[in-house]
Amino acid sequence: MKEQITICGAGLVGSLLAIFLVEQGYTVRVFEKRKDPRTNSEDAGRSINLAISHRGLHALKDACTDLDIEALKLAVPMYGRAIHDVLGSVVFQAYGEATQHINSISRGALNILLIAKAEELGVQFLFSHTCVEYKQTEKKWIFKNLQGDSIATEQAEIMIGADGAFSVIRKNLLGVLNKDAKIDALDYGYKELEIYPKEGASIILKEALHIWPRERFMLIALPNTNGSYTATLFLSMQGEQSFENLKTSEEILLFFKTYFEDALQLIPDLVSQFNAHPTSRLSTIHTDDWYNDHTLLIGDAAHALVPFYGQGMNAGFEDCRILSEILKDKKSYSTWEEIFEVFFIKRKVNCDAISDLALQNFVEMRDDVADASFHIRKKIEKYLHHTLKDAFIPQYTLVSFSDAPYSEAKEVGVLHATILNEIMLLPQIVELWPTVELESEVLKIVSTYIGDVI
Ligand SMILES: Cc1cc2nc3c(=O)[nH]c(=O)nc-3n(C[C@H](O)[C@H](O)[C@H](O)COP(=O)(O)OP(=O)(O)OC[C@H]3O[C@@H](n4cnc5c(N)ncnc54)[C@H](O)[C@@H]3O)c2cc1C
Repeated sequence: MKEQITICGAGLVGSLLAIFLVEQGYTVRVFEKRKDPRTNSEDAGRSINLAISHRGLHALKDACTDLDIEALKLAVPMYGRAIHDVLGSVVFQAYGEATQHINSISRGALNILLIAKAEELGVQFLFSHTCVEYKQTEKKWIFKNLQGDSIATEQAEIMIGADGAFSVIRKNLLGVLNKDAKIDALDYGYKELEIYPKEGASIILKEALHIWPRERFMLIALPNTNGSYTATLFLSMQGEQSFENLKTSEEILLFFKTYFEDALQLIPDLVSQFNAHPTSRLSTIHTDDWYNDHTLLIGDAAHALVPFYGQGMNAGFEDCRILSEILKDKKSYSTWEEIFEVFFIKRKVNCDAISDLALQNFVEMRDDVADASFHIRKKIEKYLHHTLKDAFIPQYTLVSFSDAPYSEAKEVGVLHATILNEIMLLPQIVELWPTVELESEVLKIVSTYIGDVI
């Protein structure tokens, strides 16, 4: 008989994991608290679109033939950041080489693609089933239906918790261990707003991630295939400029007029959208307890991170790919706990690294990108990569366009920051870059850190 694996959560990670597992011959059942998103258009998640990059696409490709290609049909490429200053000027900053791009994809459409593919391959989905607890003595997981009037029990040999940042599976796992995850809530909230298309076309540059950086807060917008954009305001919950102080129509309009006037022109119904859409919080989840002998956490349930590097889903998809690779060698392990331990050792250090990088990138996005010297810094970084190739790969490139471990990308980032800090001290670097003399000075500095490159 085929081994059965139960997954809790048919979000992005749970449904992709189901595909990997059914393709390896397991019988897979997925319990999901929402209704089937293919027949119910309720808001499938917190952000309407999100950026998928190399790691996410690699996992899709490995899970099932052409799945990455099918996903990309739902996406808009983004070749760089379009940075809007407070006067309305826009500067474009490429993410990497001219052809390198990340992709803005509809969360709901991607989730539906994955669920449909998993079901086609034989995965059984039980929608409207919320996991509520684990009865340890009976070794049973308890699920309630939407009305709460019927109960399903699952005596899962193996349970994988892909039930997101507020995971019930995690709470039960940790409860048994008398522990709790550390939840670091940012004092920031976010609110999504829609920028509509103008007669089916985009109003602003389409193939870019738009950022309105304002030091302590920012607005961003990602394109959708229909020419609209999903904008997200990231702002403190409390304080002078905060959601707390944006209550009346006048306050909301004045805030946008002061800080995002060009964006305000693109959102004619700003106040009604602002009032209708929820304000949500952002958190990082820290826990070392991802598994026991029959349970494993994956995706946000194990390591939710803030969204500023666009990597939460990508990291969760990479989890699925790595777990599947370990399972291909299942004969080398005598218990599931050993398999889960190997997975934990491979992933924990890297998920910690991307959590840290995501927090750091918030400062870069909301503040640094608005600074003229930052643009020169990026240009020098690009020049160094172009000149030194693999000897100087920028951190963003390692994170978004490669499979390099996140921990390695983090280390490289620290080294490059040190090098670039020294370079930026060269006299008149901002005013004069690039000149032949400065290029040679820059290469000399780099040589002192990474060996002779001249
Ligand atoms: C504003 C914002 C922007 C983001 N942008 C990006 C981006 O650009 N790129 C990127 O890679 N990542 C991004 N992310 C992160 C990304 O959304 C998450 O990392 C990703 O959704 C995690 O997927 P998941 O399947 O682990 O969890 P989730 O997407 O949270 O899915 C969990 C699923 O489990 C179900 N569930 C929960 N509890 C239960 C229960 N008790 N019983 C049964 N089912 C349950 C839920 O209904 C849901 O379907 C962003 C996040 C936010 C908040």
